[in-house]
Amino acid sequence: QYADYAVWQRGWLRDEVLEGEMAYWRARLAALPPLLELPTDRPRPPVQSFRGGVVDFAWRSETAERLEAFSKSRGTTLFMTVLAAFEALLYRLTGQGSLAVGSPIAGRRHSEVEDLIGFFVNTLVLRGDVTGAKTFEELAFQARDRVLEAHAHQDVPFERLVEELQPERSLSHSPLFQVMLTTAEEGPSEGRQLMPELVTEPLTADSGTAKFDLMLAVSAGSEVQGSLEYCRDLFDRTTILRWCGQLQRLLISALAEPKRPLSELSFFDPAELDQILVEWGSAGQSVAPAPCLHELIEAQMELSSRRTAVVCGQERQTYSALGRQARALAHRLSEFGVGAETRVGVLVGRGLRLPGILLGILQSGGAYVGLDPTYPAARLRLMLEDSGTGILVADRESLAKVSPTLDLGGRPVVLMEDLVGEAKASRRQRPVARVNPENLAYLVYTSGSTGAPKGVAVTHRSASRLVQWSLQAFRQEELSSVLASTSICFDISVFELFVPLAAGGRVVMVEDVLALAEASKVPRLSLINTVPSAMAELVAREALPRRLKTVNLAGEALPGSLVASIYATGAVERVVNLYGPSEDTVYSTAGEVPRGTAVPTIGRPLWDMRAIVADRELRPVGVGVAGELYLSGEGQSRGYLGRPGRTAESFVPDPFTEEAGSRLYRTGDRVRWSVRGELEFLGRLDHQVKLRGFRIELGEIETALEEHSAVERALVAMRQDLARGAYLVAYVLASGGIPPEDGLRAALGSRLPEYMIPAAFVFLDE
Ligand code: AMP
Ligand code: MG
Repeated sequence: QYADYAVWQRGWLRDEVLEGEMAYWRARLAALPPLLELPTDRPRPPVQSFRGGVVDFAWRSETAERLEAFSKSRGTTLFMTVLAAFEALLYRLTGQGSLAVGSPIAGRRHSEVEDLIGFFVNTLVLRGDVTGAKTFEELAFQARDRVLEAHAHQDVPFERLVEELQPERSLSHSPLFQVMLTTAEEGPSEGRQLMPELVTEPLTADSGTAKFDLMLAVSAGSEVQGSLEYCRDLFDRTTILRWCGQLQRLLISALAEPKRPLSELSFFDPAELDQILVEWGSAGQSVAPAPCLHELIEAQMELSSRRTAVVCGQERQTYSALGRQARALAHRLSEFGVGAETRVGVLVGRGLRLPGILLGILQSGGAYVGLDPTYPAARLRLMLEDSGTGILVADRESLAKVSPTLDLGGRPVVLMEDLVGEAKASRRQRPVARVNPENLAYLVYTSGSTGAPKGVAVTHRSASRLVQWSLQAFRQEELSSVLASTSICFDISVFELFVPLAAGGRVVMVEDVLALAEASKVPRLSLINTVPSAMAELVAREALPRRLKTVNLAGEALPGSLVASIYATGAVERVVNLYGPSEDTVYSTAGEVPRGTAVPTIGRPLWDMRAIVADRELRPVGVGVAGELYLSGEGQSRGYLGRPGRTAESFVPDPFTEEAGSRLYRTGDRVRWSVRGELEFLGRLDHQVKLRGFRIELGEIETALEEHSAVERALVAMRQDLARGAYLVAYVLASGGIPPEDGLRAALGSRLPEYMIPAAFVFLDE
């Protein structure tokens, strides 16, 4: 009887026998990730509910024959071959090479128990290592060895294993494995007589439950029949249907070419591939040829000459005054020999004349390089040298601020104040500069992980495309008065300054966004374009202008709660989430965020841009599956000025087009396509962070710290708490005595911009 068996088992499975078995499992399951992170349609509930559904499928007899032939010739069972295919699919869905699949085993190993009634079934945990296999054949061999080994150690009851291994427990999923596979070698016994007088027929039973996230059951006879049971809290039926199709295509292509590299096996339905690459992935709407950036604005200077172009506090500048200012500067720069590709440094405070300065530089044919007068001298010197800036435009105040510490190395400086008279009087046309849309328009410096910032080189064409896209994405009245609050050292400023001017609207210059909260009289604004963290601050201080219609948020992840609080203020009609790295010219994708959105997406690519979500080997991943975002198209910058190696690392050959020289920019951002064809932002794949909208490579701060004589090793992390919000913490391993914190701070402050200095230091002594 079963009870006798139980007594026997207790007596036998102990001491060395048990220890030997356990030793096997401990080694086999060491460092197994606690959760297989399948791309769920909904967040995993804190407590698993076991609500389930099931999708049935049948594959043609040809597949069944191939499956059998393959298994026979390789000495694998149906289970082993299907396991290999299932693992290959799970790897494509999760990117986790090391994964566990559970499998029930009959447990009647001894002939004495064959006839007994009782529950002998045990569950085996099969640990796979998909990345360890190059081809499907190898994976199948690997599966065979693993299954045989596991069978040899099948006596440890699953619950004992869990007790022993003590995996991180959670009520939200089952321990050790979350997906299961079962197979039956015999096909369903339709119409077969199992017992005399009884005719049996298989019926699919949908119990409405699921024990695991996924359970694949396959039986092969004359055809392959199967079902995929799934947890309904996590997945939609359409997702499971898609995965059943993918499993089938993967298996068919694997059986056809078992020696082909696993990563090359296809599993996409051609229509699905077309949808993610073409329909969603590229905007395709080509517009008129992209002119030079300044040309887009010159058109307005004639149309709107008497209208206000720039507002700063009480001051105003009309379009015609803006034009005169720009032309006067352009002439002066031309006299210095500035032309296409010449880099011109801009060392000026924020004010009424800033837009005219940028415009003047562009009209002379040159490209501007923003130099923030508050940056430490060492940083400015590095930027001057790295960018090859030969001439600067400055105002007296900013020049006075930097000159005690910064040696300009004899570079000529055009002082704004000297041009005022000339700008008033000038009736001159702009100089005829030999500049075309392929020339450089500006350089922006972004933090570099190896310790030095790198200059992203953006052409007129890319910048004009952004402006052209914006002119049709936003209505004229939305662009009628736009807040400009971002330093020209960051590319969001390109939108804020050039888009309203190209639309004949006005640019409302402020020192920074929070100046709005302090202003005694909040200016009339139609659109604010800023980072979510600054917006949150404005909302908290109830400082949103009353008639504000549109809010553009960009630069960092947008929480749904912020969107709700913006709409709750009343007047705002439209919130847009804009995404884009400086390397792809300000914005690459955009998505409307309607009222009531819980998780805002970053939408779809802008005009003439392409977005591809792919894995490390640059193979597209399916809907819902997380991958890295790759970008190409007209927004793509030239790369990093003077750094061909670094540029080649990030701008890789584009395998998706025939076009010669086409590159994809690897963003380092983790995203996925939603079923509605919108990109969801999931986070970073590296150690870059956004702190109050500032892009920071933590490695750059670490390098600066480690160059201090008292620091042996440093690690910097971004932390968040309620009191402080987000901030940087530096963990410092000191070499001989703890260095004074003020000293470290000062050392960093002499090299890095303010926003990169950690708020807290933690000293470690070993
Ligand atoms: P930057 O070059 O300063 O514009 O920084 C680009 C990076 O900021 C991107 O690679 C993202 O990591 C992040 N980012 C920009 N826009 C968004 C957005 N709308 N949502 C989430 N992250 C964003
Ligand atoms: Mg950006």
